[in-house]
Amino acid sequence: MSKFARKNIVKLKPYVPGEQPKSGQKIIKLNTNENPYPPSPKVLRKLRQIAGEQLRKYPEPLAESFRNVAARVLKVDSDMIITGNGSDEILTMIFRAFVDPGQLIAYPIPTYTLYPVLAGIQGAEIAELPFEKDYQLPKSLLETDAKVIFIANPNAPTGTFIEPAVISSFAKQSKSLIVIDEAYADFADGNCIELVKRHNNVIVLRTFSKSYSLAGLRFGFAIANRAIIGDMLKVKDSYNCDAISIALATEAIKDRKYFQETIGKIRKERGWLTRKLRELGFAVLDSQANFVWASIKRPSASNIYTMLKQRGILLRYFDKPGLRNSLRITIGKPSENRILIRTLKDVLNKG
Ligand code: PMP
Repeated sequence: MSKFARKNIVKLKPYVPGEQPKSGQKIIKLNTNENPYPPSPKVLRKLRQIAGEQLRKYPEPLAESFRNVAARVLKVDSDMIITGNGSDEILTMIFRAFVDPGQLIAYPIPTYTLYPVLAGIQGAEIAELPFEKDYQLPKSLLETDAKVIFIANPNAPTGTFIEPAVISSFAKQSKSLIVIDEAYADFADGNCIELVKRHNNVIVLRTFSKSYSLAGLRFGFAIANRAIIGDMLKVKDSYNCDAISIALATEAIKDRKYFQETIGKIRKERGWLTRKLRELGFAVLDSQANFVWASIKRPSASNIYTMLKQRGILLRYFDKPGLRNSLRITIGKPSENRILIRTLKDVLNKG
């Protein structure tokens, strides 16, 4: 710690990303919700075609080529879209544009643990309200005078889903800006994009890290009404998305066939893995994401995590109150999921 840090940076507990094993390590990696399939072949072809000339110049400041294609695909206007270096950067822009130091933000818990970190950087106050039964929105969210409310839908780490109609009625009643973090919505039965046309207080976030197999690219975007996007454009770094990410994300969103196929495979495996984990004695929530949340009392989740790690399988364990009985398991390829179940059987017998 240097003597120069701001007061809230001194006390800040930074976000801890999931472990990334060194390249070359042979590991079944089911800990950070990456897509087990490669990006679309069209994306890879485009990558090989990128010329030095494209890198010599600055990229498009507003990622116009991406916005135009995404607008067509998602049936919104292109000026309702803003792009970022992953949806994490979009979240940062939201804090910069809409949350003054000392103001309150709120979200149901458990959820994505980056929200309190960004609040801490901005010097904002937080209200963490436990989900109601079946992971429905806490009624008390409407009673807070939060400037911004964050709802991850499907939620992480639980994979649970709140119906868009429920969120729509919540947005209608709320005076807050409602951020619907749809990092995993492509794996779900529905989404909230239509809500941005109906309500002037809704932002929807999307990422290329999960459903498009491009976590390493760092590309995400937000959809909202023009006024909200205009505020966010003011705080955006001039060239926040690089030329390669804009070109590849544009190619990825165009290839609907590959996208649908990949998602179909993951949704099918999600059903299989859920059934098998339940047969082994785990309590597994019905998931609408590309991971499942599996709970068990004995052996402890932390022991299972460690024993699997020793056997070359990486899951996500959160050493946090309320989360210590559970493991978050990313849906892998069928072969990986089968090795996981086989290894789990072995570990449970020993434990
Ligand atoms: N929101 C949620 C709920 C997430 O789980 C993640 C992935 N860690 C993100 C946003 C950020 O995704 P990215 O920055 O890779 O777009």
